[in-house]
Amino acid sequence: MKLLLHTCCAPCSVYCIDELRSENIEPTVYWFNPNIHPYMEYKARRDCLKEYTKSINVEAIFEEEYGLDEFCKNVVCDLKNRCQNYCYRVRLEQTAKYAKEHGYDTISTTLLVSPYQKHEILKEQGEEIAQKYGLNFLYRDFRVGFREGQAKARELGLYMQKYCGCIFSEEMRYYNRNPIQTTNTNGYEIPKEPRMQVKKIENKEDYIDLLLEADPSKDMIHKYLNDSDVYALKKEDELISIAVILHIDRKTLELKNIVTKENYRNKGYAKTLLKSLCGNYKQKYDRMLVGTTENNIPFYVKQGFDKYEKTIKNFFIDNYKEEIKDGELTCTDLIYYSKDLKKK
Ligand code: SF4
Repeated sequence: MKLLLHTCCAPCSVYCIDELRSENIEPTVYWFNPNIHPYMEYKARRDCLKEYTKSINVEAIFEEEYGLDEFCKNVVCDLKNRCQNYCYRVRLEQTAKYAKEHGYDTISTTLLVSPYQKHEILKEQGEEIAQKYGLNFLYRDFRVGFREGQAKARELGLYMQKYCGCIFSEEMRYYNRNPIQTTNTNGYEIPKEPRMQVKKIENKEDYIDLLLEADPSKDMIHKYLNDSDVYALKKEDELISIAVILHIDRKTLELKNIVTKENYRNKGYAKTLLKSLCGNYKQKYDRMLVGTTENNIPFYVKQGFDKYEKTIKNFFIDNYKEEIKDGELTCTDLIYYSKDLKKK
């Protein structure tokens, strides 16, 4: 594979390049970002990427186009949709064009690492544009490594930008610092929806109390917790949901526990977390198992866990000291379903 990796800045490239190299994919970094304003900001980000790519010995191509005029002309009539209508497209299109002319067979973008971008739209546009040029689009949900990459970038002393890039996103900084007090007819504030993120958890034991709400035995939790990956869905710094994923073999995972904090339940957060994890793991794994009680089968089937695997008879009676209730149901058997992670 000869990969041309559109790169928006050095900090976002850190995790993407590390991850690709861990898969033995050596990308060529491609800088083309006429969406970064004003010029000193453009220069700061570009120069930092130049230094960084040199320091890690990765090939890099810098397409110089500051392009404030052209950018504004193309977005000003529909500022709300500027990211997907112009900004992503112009960058992906130029990347594909360059790739085609210079013998690359695959393109991708570091924009896929950012939880602040419209990820699904990027994927869709990337695939569409790559196809138009007879190229492949390498898709990865790099978002799972966003914090890790940013932390490493900070440690390395890379230039960390404070806004997305265009002057309109820069303006948002002002509004975020000086919020307009919006009120509804009853006269109370409408809070702005904070950003969501999925974060890998290292201090797993700190989350035992929450995990016990889904699996009420510490002994059982300790049988899988150490060997598992634990992820939290957070709204800014507030924990919403948590999921525990055990690696069964090279191609198979098992969802061992997923739970949402009580005040956030029935709002689709567990679904959001699960979807994000499946999207991420499908790069390396083929299927994910889940063992569940009867009551929860419809939830999992809706999330794509639609293949029945097996039933472990009397699992809850044999493994738990006390009777386990799931709503009205007294739990006895553990029923396994699986999801094909590669299935579209
Ligand atoms: S907010 Fe970011 S992605 Fe959207 S148009 Fe501005 S620079 Fe481009």
